[in-house]
Amino acid sequence: MQEEATGGAQFDAAQLMARKRVVYLVALAGGIAIFLLSWLIRGPDDPFLTYLYPAFAALLAVFWLGLWRYPEALARLEPWMLGLVAVIILGRLAWHFHAGGPVDDHLLVLAGGHYWAVGIVILAAFVMLEHRQGLWAGLAILVLATAIAVTGVAGEVMRDEVSTQSLVYLLRVHLFLGVLLVLASIATSMRDTVKDALVRSEVMARAARTDALTGLANRRAAEAFLQRQAAAVERYGRPVAVISMDIDHFKAVNDTHGHARGDAVIAGVAQRLQDSVREPDLVARWCGEEFLIVAPEISAAKARHLAERCREAIARASIAGVAVTGSFGITAFRPGDSLDAVLGRADNMMYQAKQHGRDCVFHEQENPT
Ligand code: GH3
Ligand code: MG
Ligand code: MG
Repeated sequence: MQEEATGGAQFDAAQLMARKRVVYLVALAGGIAIFLLSWLIRGPDDPFLTYLYPAFAALLAVFWLGLWRYPEALARLEPWMLGLVAVIILGRLAWHFHAGGPVDDHLLVLAGGHYWAVGIVILAAFVMLEHRQGLWAGLAILVLATAIAVTGVAGEVMRDEVSTQSLVYLLRVHLFLGVLLVLASIATSMRDTVKDALVRSEVMARAARTDALTGLANRRAAEAFLQRQAAAVERYGRPVAVISMDIDHFKAVNDTHGHARGDAVIAGVAQRLQDSVREPDLVARWCGEEFLIVAPEISAAKARHLAERCREAIARASIAGVAVTGSFGITAFRPGDSLDAVLGRADNMMYQAKQHGRDCVFHEQENPT
């Protein structure tokens, strides 16, 4: 319950990565299918396609298997996958411009396939990398694609062998790629800003509900938790135990060992309490050296057991080099209870424990006031 009580809005990075992984698995499978299909329907004079496409399909299959088998390696695989796909697509582009014959003959494949692929890799760079890295990678891909096209058509332009239509097309497609890069960059920078803000607000929400010294839920978080429990008691009549605990003779600890050691003792007591409760229970630092334990779905007998377990955990061995004990008071939520009422009863029991010599547990039902 500690998580629920102290956590703010959850920014679930693990869930995001899991979704990304599914998308990559589908995209890689699609890539493999495209390479194999292109290989099956290849023309007779295309050694690049004949010999390299099966190899590319195999490389993508290796990544697919790696991602399937080791989901946790996703972040490390991302730059490598991007690099591989970029090299493949730019390599194919270079082949078309430099080894594949007149550009005019290739215009259809370039338009129908390769420039789309270049655009997709630019987008993928922004999806796979942080904004700044994505921008550099996208720019590098665009510059290389442009250099490949310019050096590829330069000779044909000199010899006047290329149509104006092809040149206009090439110019336009590079402009579009540039616009795509800018738009992707803006979108990703907005994404990263929102992500940072989410992380920051989660950290702040958590800090607002967490006690800085002990890491336990603070009073505010405990009150919110108690309100929810009160509603559950009201609605379903469930038993909820509330245990108040105060460290015995703590002024003497401060006086003898100093305030810093006193703080260490408080933190140590918090840890022992936290280690003694179950997952659904909440341990909070109520104020100073006073703690509150809220245990839902627990009978009176079990609440006593829980408090005894906590008491023994503290008294068992010294904490930060100081032997300390605590006094415990137990009550249970009643329908119609206000927070003040239930906390008042728990405190009352705790004071009775103090009066009875400290280092003991007082239970309202066994010791009615
Ligand atoms: P009792 O057994 O009756 O509880 O005796 P006590 O001395 O513990 O009395 P009380 O609970 O009233 O004293 C609380 C003391 O705890 C007073 C204050 O100086 C000290 N204290 C409260 N908050 C902190 C803290 O954050 N750090 C330290 N070091 N001391 C604290
Ligand atoms: Mg005390
Ligand atoms: Mg006190």
